[in-house]
Amino acid sequence: MNLENKHNTLPTIAVEGLTGCAGELLVILENLDKLLPFVRVVSFPFAQSSNQGGPVDITFVEGSVSQKHDLEKLERIRAASRWLVAVGNCAVWGCVQKGGCTNCSAAEKMLQVYGKDANFDVLEAAPLEKHVHVDVRLSGCPINATQFLSVTASLLQDHLPYITSKPVCLECKLKENPCVLIEDNLPCLGPVTAAGCGALCPSVGAACYGCWGPCQSPQMEAMAQVLTEKGFALEEVISRLGSFGAPAELFKRWKPFNENGAAVKGV
Ligand code: SF4
Ligand code: SF4
Repeated sequence: MNLENKHNTLPTIAVEGLTGCAGELLVILENLDKLLPFVRVVSFPFAQSSNQGGPVDITFVEGSVSQKHDLEKLERIRAASRWLVAVGNCAVWGCVQKGGCTNCSAAEKMLQVYGKDANFDVLEAAPLEKHVHVDVRLSGCPINATQFLSVTASLLQDHLPYITSKPVCLECKLKENPCVLIEDNLPCLGPVTAAGCGALCPSVGAACYGCWGPCQSPQMEAMAQVLTEKGFALEEVISRLGSFGAPAELFKRWKPFNENGAAVKGV
C-alpha cells in the first residue's frame, strides 16, 4: 500500500512501532483517510512498503522499550521528530510487558519462556519517557480514534493538545450504567482508570480492571478504602493495576485500612 500524498508541502507524519500488539497502529490505519488531505505519511512500516527516514513533523510511537533495538530506534525517532506522541498503554505506561516482570527480571522471564539458548537482547520493559522526552502521552488499550484525531489536529496547528484523563466512571455514568462496584460488589477500578474506552466492561456488567492505565490524579486512598470496606484484598487490586504497567509509586499512597474502613494509624 502507498499512503503517501503527492503534495510535498504538507506537514509530515510517521507511525512507528516498538514492542506492542499493533493495536494502536490498526486504529491509526483505520482513521488515516481522515488525515490524508492534511498530512504526508513519510513512514508507516506496518502499512506501506516504501518508507523514508529523516526529519518529520509528528511521529506516533506504539509499544514499550523492551529490547535494545527498540531503544536505538526510539533515539533515532526522537532525534528526527518535532513532536513525539506516545500512543497506547505500552508506550505511555509499559503495559503487560512491564507489569509481568515485577517479581523477576526480564532476562529471567526470557529464560523461563525460551530456554537458555535463546538469544534476545532484552531490557526491562519501560514506557518511552523513561528514555526520551515525550511531547504527548495518549493512553488507551487501544487508543480512542477521536482522541487520536483531536491530538493530531492540535499538533498540526502547532500547539500541544490539552488532554485530560478523566476516570472511566464519567463515561459509565453518562451511559447510565448501574454501578457494578456499588450494586454488584465487583472490584471495579473505574474510579482510578483513564476514560476513553466508553466504559466497555461495566457496560456489560463486568468490573473495569484498569487496562487504560491510571487517570489524572487518581484518588487512590478513596479507592483503597472502598475496596477494603467491601472485603477485597488490596494486594490483588495492586496486582491488577500493576499488570498494566501502573507505576508502583501510586500504591505507596495506599495505606492499610482496618475492618471498619478507617486508615490504620502509624502506617
Ligand atoms: S461500574 Fe465501575 S466505572 Fe462504572 S460507575 Fe461504578 S465504579 Fe465507576
Ligand atoms: S478494563 Fe477498564 S479501561 Fe479497560 S476496556 Fe474495560 S472498562 Fe475500559
